[in-house]
Amino acid sequence: MPVNSRLPGFYKLSPRDRLAEVTRASGLTETDLACLVPSDPDMLATADRMIENVVGTLSIPVGIAANFTIGGRDYLIPMATEEPSVVAAASNMASVARLHGGFHVSTDLPIMVSQVQVVGVPDPRGARMRLYEAEAEILALANEQDPLLVKLGGGARGIEVRIVEADGATYVVLHLQVDVRDAMGANAVNTMAEALAPRIAEIAGGRVRLRILTNKADRRLARVRAVFDRDALGGADVVAGIVDAYRFAAADPYRAATHNKGIMNGITAVVLATGNDTRAVEAGAHCHAAASGRYSSLSHYEVNADGHLVGTLEVPMAVGLVGGATKTHPAARAGVKLLGVTSAQELAQVIVAVGLAQNVGALRALAAEGIQKGHMSLHARNVAAAAGAIGDEIEAVVSRLKTGGHVRLDRAEIILAELRAATP
Ligand code: NAD
Repeated sequence: MPVNSRLPGFYKLSPRDRLAEVTRASGLTETDLACLVPSDPDMLATADRMIENVVGTLSIPVGIAANFTIGGRDYLIPMATEEPSVVAAASNMASVARLHGGFHVSTDLPIMVSQVQVVGVPDPRGARMRLYEAEAEILALANEQDPLLVKLGGGARGIEVRIVEADGATYVVLHLQVDVRDAMGANAVNTMAEALAPRIAEIAGGRVRLRILTNKADRRLARVRAVFDRDALGGADVVAGIVDAYRFAAADPYRAATHNKGIMNGITAVVLATGNDTRAVEAGAHCHAAASGRYSSLSHYEVNADGHLVGTLEVPMAVGLVGGATKTHPAARAGVKLLGVTSAQELAQVIVAVGLAQNVGALRALAAEGIQKGHMSLHARNVAAAAGAIGDEIEAVVSRLKTGGHVRLDRAEIILAELRAATP
């Protein structure tokens, strides 16, 4: 049946009425879409407050990464991901780092930056100087917008004024630097930038266009260092293989994209489990990976005097404990409570530690037995379920899939059919 996507007044309906409307408009049955409705009605009401046109929710598995010692403290780390082997790899490499004291971490102050773009300025260089001359006034005006943030010890800290030449146009771009304390900070800095706009236009002598944060949050870096035991990794040759894999990523953007994706497997899973903005963190990370002008590896690896692997990672980390979904989503609140972090900076440190562990886990597998062995072994359960196995059939199919060495849907379907045929 052809679908008509015009749904007048759809946004005004309740989630249940919207789902009924979508069922009707799509020609599907109630059963087809029933799994979108959470069993807890409060969750549906919460979801309806979070985004628009809500009809239901989607559950993503949350696993707990074990063995992490970060900054001298142990953490149980919630990771929300649909990908097998991510939680296992992080936990495994955390136990290897633990032999040498775990993960050593540091962070910048939680500074977010908002950009105000001024167009049509006749004297951009003069305007740049006039804006710097007015810095105290600009900061005071910004801070008037968020007295709570100021009371908490945060607030506007400084400005930077850049001249951006773009395709024949010249823009004066003011950066407002704000200490956002325990917030991710997007709304906080955007509100300030919008409030400043008329005064900035006046001082610069032009017209303000964009007023929004930059996700290149490079004044808010989180850093981690860890020593991974050579023998626990599998010996000197595995360590050399990891270093070769890293050098490959550092030199080749095609490899770097996958290398960094492995890091983000860990980072995004914790960012999501704590209700933070995964896209903001990912944009910041990939932009940082290209900070030299060429996209490269976010992490670095060396071998220390004792032959152990030293891994380091530095990533912009715009995450918070207030704002966004962090306080509204019950699972995010539970995740933060489980972690026991008391500041956004501490959360950022935990997240980069997981990113580094994840990266070493993937590189170790690549340098040793290859990624597919562990990955497909864990993936086999998904494949068995996708083939239609239920209950005890899943483990039976997994076991025969692994014995045959090829974890593929077509094989799982054949195995399942054979099992069912053999079952009286
Ligand atoms: P927010 O505005 O909801 O909360 C921040 C405010 O909370 C502060 O301004 C402050 O007044 C108050 N606050 C209370 N306790 C605080 C504490 N301990 N530390 C700091 N502030 C405290 O949220 P936000 O963090 O400014 O914005 C985050 C949301 O913005 C996310 O949902 C994100 O997805 C969204 N967003 C992102 C982008 C982007 O990344 N490009 C753009 C727009 C919006």
